[in-house]
Amino acid sequence: MRYSQYFLPTLKETPSDAEVASHQLMLRAGMIRKVAAGIYSYLPLGLRSLRKVERIVREEMDRSGAIEIHMPMVVPAELWQESGRWEHYGKELLRLNDRKDASFCLGPTHEEVVTDIARRELKSYKQLPVNLYQVQTKFRDEIRPRFGLMRGREFVMKDAYSFDLDEAGANLSYQKMYDAYRRIFTRCGLRFRAVEADTGSIGGTASHEFMVLASSGEDAIASCGSCEYAANVEKAQIRTLAVSALQPSAQLETLSTPGRKTVEDVAAFLKVDLQKLVKTLIVQTDTGEVVAVLVRGDRELNDIKLCRLLGANEVQMAPEELVQKLTGAPVGFAGPMGLKLRLLADQEIEAMSDFVVGANQKDMHHVGVNLGRDFTPELFADLRSAVAGDQCPRCEGALEIWRGIEVGHVFKLGTKYSEAMQATVLDAEGKDRVLYMGCYGIGVGRTLASAIEQNHDEQGIVFPMPIAPFQVLLVCLNPKDEKVCGASEKLYADLEAAGIEVLLDDRDERPGSKFKDADLCGIPLRVTVGGRGLERGIFELKWRATGEQQEVAVADAAGEIIARVRKAMEG
Ligand code: ATP
Ligand code: MG
Repeated sequence: MRYSQYFLPTLKETPSDAEVASHQLMLRAGMIRKVAAGIYSYLPLGLRSLRKVERIVREEMDRSGAIEIHMPMVVPAELWQESGRWEHYGKELLRLNDRKDASFCLGPTHEEVVTDIARRELKSYKQLPVNLYQVQTKFRDEIRPRFGLMRGREFVMKDAYSFDLDEAGANLSYQKMYDAYRRIFTRCGLRFRAVEADTGSIGGTASHEFMVLASSGEDAIASCGSCEYAANVEKAQIRTLAVSALQPSAQLETLSTPGRKTVEDVAAFLKVDLQKLVKTLIVQTDTGEVVAVLVRGDRELNDIKLCRLLGANEVQMAPEELVQKLTGAPVGFAGPMGLKLRLLADQEIEAMSDFVVGANQKDMHHVGVNLGRDFTPELFADLRSAVAGDQCPRCEGALEIWRGIEVGHVFKLGTKYSEAMQATVLDAEGKDRVLYMGCYGIGVGRTLASAIEQNHDEQGIVFPMPIAPFQVLLVCLNPKDEKVCGASEKLYADLEAAGIEVLLDDRDERPGSKFKDADLCGIPLRVTVGGRGLERGIFELKWRATGEQQEVAVADAAGEIIARVRKAMEG
């Protein structure tokens, strides 16, 4: 490809609405352009890299025995009604009507469509196992699309669905995908970790997320410093501590805490440690239930754990008016005593004594509060989020917390969809058996963005060779000089003939500006052809990742470059 005839609009300035490095750099390197919130066009350079990631994904899916299909993006409502998700999926599901007023949605994921295929086409256990996958554009009307391709509304996903006769078979299919995912992300040049995850609204029995380590990641991951345990903080279990005998020693008192609404303010005002406070959070579920949840003053309520306990899809803090109505006080003074609500407590509370709670009265708190004597929660459960230093649920080690980007997700679905949609086959005895399913997603665009998030510097992108848009950038320093131009053209032709992907920078620009663009676009190997080098019979090679420079004799250059690129492709 010749730069002068290519479409590579680079930007000098960092666009102000791009917060994370990958988003900024993909805009600056002319890879993507925004069309609407969370909706992007891929320009040629971006598309080339996206295709590279797709190719790796396809190769590894094929190698694992999965079979490619392509399902529609527009999906009839009936299928989603059958699974029950038409009601439950919420606003991320973009619904639309056609001219006959029939309802459809834009597929955010394709369990329903693929289960429909399976129930029509799979008749016998002899056709199993089967794993169908596609690489396709998804739409989710995300509430906060951001970070460019990281959290788009329209995005490219690889989704695969396995069908097995029984759970043992499903476990094998799951393991194959897990292994394929490891190979895919390794080949993409990512530093990642597979962590235990919550199964969320897709439903199912077990799942792992593949997390790319990055400080800009939206997910928090807890991992043990001593053993292999790693889990999304959404799910990371907290060890039940042996409950020490409670020693209520204090009298119950009610103190004035004027204007002190936050736990920090109350603790400072009463001159007690935050750990001596218990927060009473009034929480509302998507199903309309309202409960009070108690967590220690310095802890965060974990929404996902609470959802699981309550069988809800979503929870949120009750609005101010409702808190006022239920507690008789403004927000900031809720407490468990006398509250006419289900009272759920984090397990940690069970070991507390002589603590502080809100008094359900403006500007008042109770101190010296004790369980049993003053109030009794309905239950104690693991309801808070893990923090660094918590004990590992598997061993004596301590948990560390780090941030990650979820690039892939594997789920054991069990029979959730096959049962709802009656997807069965006949077994060896001629009996109907409900299929066991698994589903497996990879965000293709997000994987690309994550690779850039992990591989960049001040000057720009540093592409890992296997997903770079071009393997070699050939900079012709002086296209008007016949010799320089001729030598560049010859090398260009030799490399192309060997199947090397070369971008020839034949623009009539100053060398400084060509090198700036070279660093910005991050093509792994830069080869410079200039007059002075030619006089000495050499080309200059420079690796983007290490800055390593080397001169090669003109006669050896093509062979040397081809060998080096091939080696780098293997990773
Ligand atoms: P998240 O928690 O980030 O919203 P999810 O759990 O909703 O992700 P899945 O339903 O498991 O995601 O989708 C499979 C994969 O698709 C994810 O692992 C991720 O890589 C990708 N993905 C999901 N949502 C988006 C999005 N809005 N933009 C880009 N990629 C996405
Ligand atoms: Mg999501």
